[in-house]
Amino acid sequence: MKRFDYVRPATVTEAVAAAAQPGAVYLAAGTNLLDLMKGNVSRPDRLVDVTHLDGLDRIETLADGSLRIGALVSNADLAHDAEFARSYPAVAEALLSGASAQLRNAATVGGNLLQRTRCAYFYDTASRCNKREPGSGCDARDGENRGHAVLGWSESCIATHPSDFCVPLAALDAAVEIEGRGGRREIAFDDLHRLPGDTPERDTVLEPGDLIVAVRLPPVARGFAAHARYLKVRERTSYAFAVVSAAAALRIEDGKIAEARLALGGVAAKPWRARGAEEVLRNVAPTADAFQEAARRALEGAKPSGDNAFKIELTRRIVMRALTLATAGTPARIPALPASPFAATSGALHV
Ligand SMILES: Cc1cc2nc3c(=O)[nH]c(=O)nc-3n(C[C@H](O)[C@H](O)[C@H](O)COP(=O)(O)OP(=O)(O)OC[C@H]3O[C@@H](n4cnc5c(N)ncnc54)[C@H](O)[C@@H]3O)c2cc1C
Ligand code: SF4
Repeated sequence: MKRFDYVRPATVTEAVAAAAQPGAVYLAAGTNLLDLMKGNVSRPDRLVDVTHLDGLDRIETLADGSLRIGALVSNADLAHDAEFARSYPAVAEALLSGASAQLRNAATVGGNLLQRTRCAYFYDTASRCNKREPGSGCDARDGENRGHAVLGWSESCIATHPSDFCVPLAALDAAVEIEGRGGRREIAFDDLHRLPGDTPERDTVLEPGDLIVAVRLPPVARGFAAHARYLKVRERTSYAFAVVSAAAALRIEDGKIAEARLALGGVAAKPWRARGAEEVLRNVAPTADAFQEAARRALEGAKPSGDNAFKIELTRRIVMRALTLATAGTPARIPALPASPFAATSGALHV
């Protein structure tokens, strides 16, 4: 096993300084990072344990009405916060559809955003993988690639981003607060994750030493609470990553969609915001025809990267289904169960 340093800084400033040196990585709950280290996929020289930093475990409403979620809040604590689930039901639904109860109790907000792909070749050090070993090749291209990307992929890498939580965050225009060597800055959530291009080893725009301190949801995101769903298709009902997923949120006024938000999961190296589909849905009645056209726009440019052409049709149907469920209304008790794509739309009553 590779030897590494372990440090536990007391402040955010100390953490950023400790992580700025090459080979250093942050350790949160470790549910992804430690697996990668045990498999020799990740070989850091230094672990900077952030779990004891003060003030990063709070959920707070700011003066402007936005919600600030500290990077160390656990996935479970966030999803089970009643006020949070009422205001951002699709986000709660996404969190509860991810991983298992034990994992959600440990996994943090910051770690969920930065978890690595689940491409099997990335985890197998005997395989060629440009993300793990830049320039080595990509064994997924001619291998087992049913689960791989249909949007935004490149010849270098066809992996997908595995997070559920990130999908509604992208739809609702979240922002990410980062503390780095140059101080505090903020980026739009949609700008955090990168498409692979020629540098698939870089999942995000973060620089060495950058620490995610919080995620913020803007006040307008609450305006979608009455008609918001996260729908995930997976290969078994207990814990499993998404084959594809969709977060759909609508603001319906006088029988028409005043504003729509849509993002897709399991289709690309980043949560995929479907802005073209959102435009199609503006100021129209929520009908099957409108949803069909929105689904078509959402998948514009999609192409299989191997044996996964089925994902394009599946995603089209999940988009239509998510929009239909969102129109019917957010269930009064959210989420009663992780959303099933087969659940009846009747009974979805938002009070
Ligand atoms: C069996 C299993 C099933 C799973 N199923 C799902 C699923 O269905 N859906 C889903 O979304 N996820 C799923 N997950 C993934 C799980 O959600 C992630 O492992 C978890 O969210 C990571 O959080 P963590 O705190 O443990 O991060 P860690 O493992 O500690 O860190 C992950 C990465 O984030 C970096 N990091 C952590 N915190 C910060 C920070 N504040 N700033 C900068 N960098 C940071 C670390 O350096 C590391 O690179 C599953 C995991 C397992 C093991
Ligand atoms: S798809 Fe990406 S992560 Fe998977 S083997 Fe290819 S380069 Fe590696």
